[in-house]
Amino acid sequence: MKILVVEDEAKTGEYLCKGLKEAGFVVDLADNGLTGYHLAMTGDYDLVVLDIMLPDVNGWEIVRMLRAAKKGMPVLLLSALGTIEHRVKGLELGADDYLVKPFAFAELLARVRTLLRRGSTVIAESQFQVADLTLFLVSRKVTRGASRITLTSKEFTLLEFFLRHQGEVLPRSLIASQVWDMNFDSDTNAIDVAVKRLRAKIDNDFEPKLIQTVRGVGYVLEVPDED
Ligand code: CA
Repeated sequence: MKILVVEDEAKTGEYLCKGLKEAGFVVDLADNGLTGYHLAMTGDYDLVVLDIMLPDVNGWEIVRMLRAAKKGMPVLLLSALGTIEHRVKGLELGADDYLVKPFAFAELLARVRTLLRRGSTVIAESQFQVADLTLFLVSRKVTRGASRITLTSKEFTLLEFFLRHQGEVLPRSLIASQVWDMNFDSDTNAIDVAVKRLRAKIDNDFEPKLIQTVRGVGYVLEVPDED
């Protein structure tokens, strides 16, 4: 799942991104309000963590504009302003939750997970299934038939990406940019290694094989045609 963090304070922004990435999310950081607003309007985010005090467009204004544009992803406001009036203002403008700085990362993560669980888009697609493989987004569980499969957080993100694009041929460079937030122009070997590890867990001991290699391009996840 993909999260946008809008935070102008470099240290807090990095801390949030690092923690959320470690928790298995794909994270983009915007360090000013305008960039944050544009990313939120155009990107495909499941949730926005939004600082209120930003130098250009503030967080209140961003929530108001997102809701006016019918953007419904959950928004978690972050602010040093902890008075009741501020909290109420945030929620009235359409934010879903409000966390006062300083906060413990564990609390932020718990609130992010709660919001994602509650979000209507997520409920509609809280799990993905192909053949006998199921990925549960919220509990972060993967099963194949009766077997529970243990994945690293990166492998989970990679499998989720494949499942969101079932049947689409995914070039290595796209996988690199969407799952690793990086450009692997030269070194796509890292992608092959990661896919190999994932296959070892979800395909090696099972039939049918779900991840197919598309020579010279990348990979596709689909149930192969029967001969
Ligand atoms: Ca700030």
